[in-house]
Amino acid sequence: MGLHSEILKRGNCLDLFATNILLNMYVKAQLLSEAEILFDEMPERNTISFVTLIQGYTQSLQFVEAVGLFTRLHGEGHELNPFVFTSILKVLVSMEWAELGWNFHACIYKLGHESNAFVGTALIDAYSVCGCVDFAREVFDGVRCKDMVTWTGMVACYAENDFFEEALQVFSQMRLIGFKPNNFTFAGVFKACVGLEAFDVAKGVHGCVLKARYELDIYVGVALLELYTKSGNIGNAQRVFEEIPKKDVIPWSFMISRFAQSNQSEVAVSLFCRMRRAFVVPNQFTFASALQACATLGDIEFGKQMHGLVLKVGLALDVFVSNALMDVYAKCGRIEDSMQLFEKSINRNDVSWNTMIVGYVHCGDAVKALGLFLEMLENRLLATEVTYSSVLCASASLAALELGTQIHSLAIKTNYAKNTIVDNALIDMYSKCGRIRDARLVFDIMNERDEVSWNAMISGYSMHGLGIEALKIFQMMQDRGYKPNTLTFVGVLSACSNSGLFDQGQDYFTSMFQDYGIEPCIEHYSCMVWLLGRSGHLYKAAKLIEEIPFEPSVMLWRALLGACIIHNNVELGRLSAQRILEMEPRDEATHVLLSNMYAIARRWENVSAIRQSMKKKGMKKEPGLSWVENHGRVHYFSVGDTSHPDMKVINGILEWLNMRTRRAGFVPNCHAVLLHVEDKEKERLLWVHSERLALAFAMFRTPSGSQIRIIKNLRICVDCHAAMKLISKIVQRDIIIRDMNRFHHFQDGICSCGDYW
Ligand SMILES: [Zn+2]
Ligand SMILES: [Zn+2]
Repeated sequence: MGLHSEILKRGNCLDLFATNILLNMYVKAQLLSEAEILFDEMPERNTISFVTLIQGYTQSLQFVEAVGLFTRLHGEGHELNPFVFTSILKVLVSMEWAELGWNFHACIYKLGHESNAFVGTALIDAYSVCGCVDFAREVFDGVRCKDMVTWTGMVACYAENDFFEEALQVFSQMRLIGFKPNNFTFAGVFKACVGLEAFDVAKGVHGCVLKARYELDIYVGVALLELYTKSGNIGNAQRVFEEIPKKDVIPWSFMISRFAQSNQSEVAVSLFCRMRRAFVVPNQFTFASALQACATLGDIEFGKQMHGLVLKVGLALDVFVSNALMDVYAKCGRIEDSMQLFEKSINRNDVSWNTMIVGYVHCGDAVKALGLFLEMLENRLLATEVTYSSVLCASASLAALELGTQIHSLAIKTNYAKNTIVDNALIDMYSKCGRIRDARLVFDIMNERDEVSWNAMISGYSMHGLGIEALKIFQMMQDRGYKPNTLTFVGVLSACSNSGLFDQGQDYFTSMFQDYGIEPCIEHYSCMVWLLGRSGHLYKAAKLIEEIPFEPSVMLWRALLGACIIHNNVELGRLSAQRILEMEPRDEATHVLLSNMYAIARRWENVSAIRQSMKKKGMKKEPGLSWVENHGRVHYFSVGDTSHPDMKVINGILEWLNMRTRRAGFVPNCHAVLLHVEDKEKERLLWVHSERLALAFAMFRTPSGSQIRIIKNLRICVDCHAAMKLISKIVQRDIIIRDMNRFHHFQDGICSCGDYW
């Protein structure tokens, strides 16, 4: 600049050649505004002046100005030489407008610059970016004196566009002619090797890298990391990682993300800490990967520290990072914190919505998840297979059939209805909503089934007490060559025990270990205990529990207690109840069952002892909750609830049902109530059990003759079960109740469970 002012003082005696040199100096020194002023003040300009300033604009990413200058150059009739074209093609690639390279190609061809190595290479790059590999090859073949850069351009073009074999061919031709590859050539070749899984070839090339002393280059290093992690050789990858320079964030990011994605979350986290100690600043991708690892570990403390760091480096608004943070809080059970981040985030994308929806489903808040899903649709965001399967899971848990069906039709409209993950969720949704036939329909027309599909269908049939159907599916599964797993057998054995298929159940239990090598787990054992127990083999069931090689769970003793009640075995029942109460002293259901059993055996002193003990323990009941879906809305009823706006009608209907059932000879089973009150009051208390409130509501809100579907969070009690059977006959409607164990399908006075539940 000092020089320039000196020149100006002396009366601007520079010619065009010298001014161009000065212009170039300003550009190189990144003094772009000075360069612009000089350019504007030049009395005459030639092509070199234009190209110099175009390069200046490109350097400082002012692409539009660069293109504008090119138009001016062309308009003012200056010479279009090879430098003009290489510069402008570079601009187009940088601004992701490589498609426009076409327009220039015609011009280049006309002027005969096509065979020039510089122009040719720039054209190859442009065509490579837009995926026109054939055109790139044509240009390559036409270049007269190819240099190393031209060859490398072609190798990279093939590698980037997944023409891996061609990339290796060009590479070996290049070496035959005697050109020495550079770091970009090697990076392209490694990419091709990974694509072809040609790991032996890659090993040879790694040798060349060492000979050419490129092993410390960052491009080559990252390509090698990719190569060794893809070939499963994490040890070699680590060795390469230790050798390459680690000032740049890219290799760190790469390794952290690989560890996070391959279930080595702890390693990923510790590498992140090491990177921090090396004073390398993480970028959004590093944070996203490290946070993913943190979410998998469920480590909230580390998550919070990361959150602080994110704020410090100013990446809190980055969508990748904020999505990953939401996931961390959701997976650590702090869904409110996740929601706060979600609400604050200004650039949410579909991943953000999905993360929140999955988070809510995961923590059991199906209503929130579904609400968010509707909001997502209103905002015209695209649902993915993960969204669909999550909201279907939410509908299943609420047994919200209308909603589930709407989601199904939406999946059809958006072409997700043929996706295996979505179809599996549909099977589960339909069977949990009581529509086992629709579940089967989805299963039958599926494109591609996996183990999950078969398991879902088997456990669907099992839940509905359709054991024979479940076993047919199990047979089909094996005929088609699918391998049953632990969950498959949980389905098969529960199908046998829910339907009383005694012999088959025992055979499958033996064959599971003998033929399939699957160790029985607690779920398998509890199916077997229930199967033996309900068939009257109570002592065999008790013996099975004793033989279990690990600590038996409450579940097993509950199954046995249930069986003892059916078969009136007070002694074994008392023992089972004792075991349950040792593990869960305040379990209300067990107290009720036990008292019921004593009452049936007319051992009143035991009944009152239980009542005393409950009082002493100050037990609080888990509130019975039932719900029905009506016009896409879910209505909840808790026991004794009087808050529903339709309460008057509901009470009227209950009154009427009470009268009709009595007239049909129904005697309420007052033992199902443990409170020390008059029998009259006990009867009243039974009539406000949540499923009856839900039933009364559904009776007047749904079209007469249609099926009534009720979901209950606990096991249905003896008295409600008996009442439901009778009511289904009196009002001539199908009533389906899903309790915590299974479906009860009441029809014309009979229940599908055959009174075993
Ligand atoms: Zn009840
Ligand atoms: Zn039943």
